[in-house]
Amino acid sequence: MNPSSRDLRILIMAPTARDAGITTDLLNGAGIETATFTTLDTLVNALNDGAAAVLVAEEHLTAAHKAPLSMWLARQPPWSDLPILILTRPGADSPESAEAWRTLGNVTLLERPTRVTTLLSAAQTSIRARSRQYQIRGHLTERLKNEQALRSADRRKDEFLATLGHELRNPLAPISNSLEIMKLSGAFDNPRIEQAGAVMERQIHHLNRLVDDLLEVSRITRGVIEVRKESLDLTSIVKAAIETSRPVLDNLRHELSVELDPDAMFVGGDPVRLTQVFANLLNNAAKYTNHGGRISITTRREGGEAIISVKDNGIGIAPNALSQVFDMFMQVDRSTRRSQGGLGIGLTLVRSLVGMHGGSVEARSEGPGLGSEFIVRLPLLIDQRASTEQPRRMKPLPSRRILIVDDSRDGGESLATLLRVLGAEVALAHSGRHALDCVDTFKPDVVLLDIGMPGMDGYEVARRIRANPANRHISLIALTGWGQDEDRRRSVAAGFDHHLVKPADIEQLRQLLTVA
Ligand code: ADP
Repeated sequence: MNPSSRDLRILIMAPTARDAGITTDLLNGAGIETATFTTLDTLVNALNDGAAAVLVAEEHLTAAHKAPLSMWLARQPPWSDLPILILTRPGADSPESAEAWRTLGNVTLLERPTRVTTLLSAAQTSIRARSRQYQIRGHLTERLKNEQALRSADRRKDEFLATLGHELRNPLAPISNSLEIMKLSGAFDNPRIEQAGAVMERQIHHLNRLVDDLLEVSRITRGVIEVRKESLDLTSIVKAAIETSRPVLDNLRHELSVELDPDAMFVGGDPVRLTQVFANLLNNAAKYTNHGGRISITTRREGGEAIISVKDNGIGIAPNALSQVFDMFMQVDRSTRRSQGGLGIGLTLVRSLVGMHGGSVEARSEGPGLGSEFIVRLPLLIDQRASTEQPRRMKPLPSRRILIVDDSRDGGESLATLLRVLGAEVALAHSGRHALDCVDTFKPDVVLLDIGMPGMDGYEVARRIRANPANRHISLIALTGWGQDEDRRRSVAAGFDHHLVKPADIEQLRQLLTVA
């Protein structure tokens, strides 16, 4: 923002009207714009429209009158330091000018009678200093604009990631349902088809993982992730992570050595998230180590902390990349990515999740070709009791009348077939209105309801079903691509009993249908 002519004027309040006239003529003659005032209040008001400096006689700066000016100066933005030129009475320093000098900041005292050259040079120096301040104002405004643009681009990126994850989930659901149907209907009895099916299953699993990572990272960056903490035995977490990563480790014929502290170590954490942390580190160790490598995972106690190390003898990390591997979308060398692929967000997730558990993670490597080590530190719990909650046993699916509502025909039909194979009686509706008719005619025990549908969305359908007391017994399950905490809150408010994210884990769905 360039300074306007108002920004460069000098506001004058001289001892007398005559002095004001003479000073104005002098300054105007030197090409300096001015404005004269007869009260300090009006002068201070005019400061808001812009000024290079104030030229004021000391007799106007009495304690009673100078308060508004002091206040205005105190409230200046950080770039501003308005020059004040005070015309003092001849002779010894007066208490007013001494006080003004002390309290008004950027003050120059000009003793009367002031020589013309002194007045002009003081005015010009003030304008130059003020022009510099305007330059700083320009830079700050520019920086603020850039920051806002960056923030908005960042927000759009987060929204894009959430939408992308959601959109990718939709086609994945019918594909994995159809695969499940093929399996259950004996299509895989033929060994060649079984082999092809296994490939499809692995790849779908991998795609699901990528989509989960995408959604997870967008949830974390928007601060809408929850960790449900309980008291956990670290050994069981590490074992679960090894179990998760076992196929990748075996596939690449790595040798895994496990060395766990013999004493139980308890941490406060979310078992799913912490397992994810160590499985991610083990997967990376496998991915970034040549076939037949050596990988180790060890746990030990140090003071009040549990130290978990995941070490490999793989491709290593260059010193300059060590601090960046945790940044989002960071991949040291895209050409070295192994068959598992990735998006460069695994370690971002690891760091965020560990941070949410009050811990830290650090990467170490002697350099390329010399292997890597990732060290996680988690605070140990003082009260060392593991959660006593037992996993619920799964019962077989009893006979249920299930209404599936989904505007995606593939998604709805593949799920319907799958549930029929499992023994349920299923009806299908492809819109909100159709769903309400089906509730009256089919009389379901459970409605599996998509949320995002054109016309009447799932929330509205749920509200209308709940509005009829005759439907009180119906169990409403949201089955949607949107799985953020806010989405879950909205579905509870609309009357849903449960909220599942597509593609629904079939065992989880079976459990819900069993208790519904
Ligand atoms: P991705 O594995 O999907 O690329 P990550 O966030 O998990 O994303 O890892 C980021 C980058 O850090 C990887 O691309 C790789 O360059 C480097 N990296 C991670 N783990 C290791 C490891 N154990 N050894 C060498 N490099 C690694």
